[in-house]
This record gives sequence, C-alpha cells and structure tokens, in this order.
Amino acid sequence: MLDVDKVRKDFPILAVEAHPGVPLVYLDSAASSQKPTAVIEAMNAYYRTTNANVHRGIHRLSEDATNAYEGARQRIADFVNAPSAEQVIYTRNATEAFNLVAATWGRANLGPGDEILLTEMEHHANIVPWQMVAQQTGAMVRYIPFTEDGRLDLTDLDNLLTERTKLLSFTAVSNVFGTINPVNQLVRAAHAVGAVVMVDAAQAVPHMAVDVQAWDCDFMAFSGHKMCGPTGIGILYGKRELLEAMPPYMGGGDMIRRVTLEGSTWNDLPWKFEAGTPSIAEGIGLGAAVDYLSHLGMDDIHAHEQHITHYALESLSEIPGLKLWGPPASEKAGVATFTLEKVHPHDIAEILDKEGIAIRAGHHCAMPLHHKLGLSATARASFYLHTTTAEVDKLVASLDKVRQIFRL
Ligand code: PLP
Repeated sequence: MLDVDKVRKDFPILAVEAHPGVPLVYLDSAASSQKPTAVIEAMNAYYRTTNANVHRGIHRLSEDATNAYEGARQRIADFVNAPSAEQVIYTRNATEAFNLVAATWGRANLGPGDEILLTEMEHHANIVPWQMVAQQTGAMVRYIPFTEDGRLDLTDLDNLLTERTKLLSFTAVSNVFGTINPVNQLVRAAHAVGAVVMVDAAQAVPHMAVDVQAWDCDFMAFSGHKMCGPTGIGILYGKRELLEAMPPYMGGGDMIRRVTLEGSTWNDLPWKFEAGTPSIAEGIGLGAAVDYLSHLGMDDIHAHEQHITHYALESLSEIPGLKLWGPPASEKAGVATFTLEKVHPHDIAEILDKEGIAIRAGHHCAMPLHHKLGLSATARASFYLHTTTAEVDKLVASLDKVRQIFRL
C-alpha cells in the first residue's frame, strides 16, 4: 500500500500555498503532473555536473551525458516492457508521436479508399494528425462511437473495422471520462483485419502498469509531463519492423549515417527519428520519473487512485444538481468529470481556485466528445499518487460553496 503522507513529502510544490494562507489542492494531474524531488534533482545534477551534447563529443562530459540520456531510454523501455530501447523514440510529447506516425507511416501506407478508425472519445492529438494525413492521401477517417455512460460502443465494430481499415488508433484511458478501454480486445480485432494499431497511452502509462508486448500494439504514445517527468519529452514506441520500414520524420544532425551533396542515408533506430540536439535533461528527468514510479510500484499507485476515485465519485454523487460523466469508478482511472446545473464549468474552476483547488474546466482537447454530449465544457478533477481523501472532502465542501454562491 502507498504511504501517501510519505509520497507527499516527495513533491515540494505540495508545500506551496495556492494563495497566501490557502494550501494548494492539486487536482489537475491529468493535464500535467507535479514533479518529485528525485526528478528535479536528476535534471539539476545533469546541468551541474554532466551537461554536454550527446552522441558527438569525444570527451568525458559528452560520454557521461550520452550514457545518462541513453540509460534513461533503456529504463523507460523496461518500464513499459518494450523488447528493446531501440524501439523507444524520444519525442517532445505524445502529440509529436502521433504526428510522427501519421506523417511517416501514414503518408507511406495510406491512399484513396483506405480507412483510419478512431473513436469519438479521442484527445485532439489522436484526431487532428490523422485528419491531416487523410486529406493528404485521400484516406477516410471513421469513428467508433461511445455510449451515454462514456464506454466505447462496440456493437457495430464489425462494420467499422474492415479490410479497408489500415489503422486503428484509440486511447487506452479517456482523459475526460477516465474510461479504461479494452485494449487487448481492440488490438486483436484490428489485427484480424490486417490493420496496424496505435494506442494513446498518455493517460495510462502514468497510472497503471503498461506492457506493450502484452497489448501487442504496433505503436504507442505517451508524454513525460503527465507521469512525474518534465515537459518537452514524450515517447513513441513502435514494433521494430514497422519503424525500420518507415521513412524519417525530420532531417538534420544525428538522424543520418552519411550525408553527401547528392543525398543522405539514415541512422539506425532509434536515432533515425531523432533529428538535432535532443531534450537531454528532459530524457534524463523522465528516466528519474520511471525510477521513482517503479520504486513505489505501479500496482500500488493504481490501487491508491482506485480508492480515491471510488471515494470521490461517491461523495460527488451526493451533491444536488451535480452530474458525473463517464462509467463507474471500477471501470475508470483517477478522473472525476462533472457539470453542475446552471453553473458554467469555468465559474466552478474559478471559485475552487479561490479555495486553493486546481481543477481543469473546458473541453479538455476533446471537442468532438463534448459536442456529442451537447456540452461546450465540463469540469474535471483528476487524481494521482499524492491525492488524499481529505483533499476530496475539501473539493466537495468547496462545491457546496459554489452552490451557495449561485443560490442552488
Ligand atoms: N492523449 C491524451 C489522452 C491526453 O490526455 C493528452 C494530454 O492531455 C494527450 C494525448 C496529448 O499530450 P501532450 O499534450 O503531452 O502531447
């Protein structure tokens, strides 16, 4: 079991006041997580003792920087059980991973008559790059719908997933509903029709043990900043034969083997996809984040979030006029998305902010999802390894204040 009081001491920001005399209650980890001292110190130590460019210099600092940066890649690969570190490409974030696959694999493999299958609950990062490549190639984008309670509606899957489907890309965990989707079932169904599968694991890898080999997905994307790591670093995992067959994404230093005035040849994996000086400190920071999460144990982190989510949904459901969106706690990750009768979610977030509570209000980069619900925005409280039931109690009490202010 997670020792939450001890965990909280690992996050310096949790001791910072939101406003003078008002403690911070950070319930916005799904947007971006806070960073433990171990991550902050790993990046600090890199700049203090090891800073140099990687893969280039024949001097001690450069060798140390390269070892730290590549060592982090290996630990990140182990964290998601990737068969090798060469299949773990550093990107800026999950968004860049989707754009990379759409621009390289997509342009090389899609054409008129082909279909890309997504779901209606996707984050824009897993919609827009496919719409762009569909426009460029003549392929068509289709969507698996969701039910009113925020589950994927798979009743018509046989008609949506056909031999015309070249790619299925879907989120393992919805950033709005929190729904944990049936990854294995969807991967098997897509492979049965010969489609390639990309999984959006931006809300999964930070919160539960993920094993890419057990999922058997072809590509997977996630972001460092949602899993206790820094911004500016994300991961694209891919199956080796696909990555090897794909053309590079960006051209420049590091991604080449040989350049002549007539043309160039490409470096080996993973560097073929990593042009230019990379985010070195950020890669090292993400390595420290996976060490931190692994040390605590992903199963214990998940169990803690499940406990908090059950508690939160039960407490929130007692507030008159409050509607919770998404499936029951047992089917979702640490997210409580809600609306309050007659109050705009932005007003809720503003009033909660005065109480020191940070939540997110808006469309959460999922406009099609909100459009289908007939909403322009929702309010979302999201939980992580440091969230306590006392913080949930404060959220509930503050929502009562919102109701008083609006005389509900
Ligand atoms: N996918 C999901 C499910 C997300 O929640 C997010 C971020 O909110 C992303 C993708 C995009 O992540 P990033 O903005 O770090 O690229």
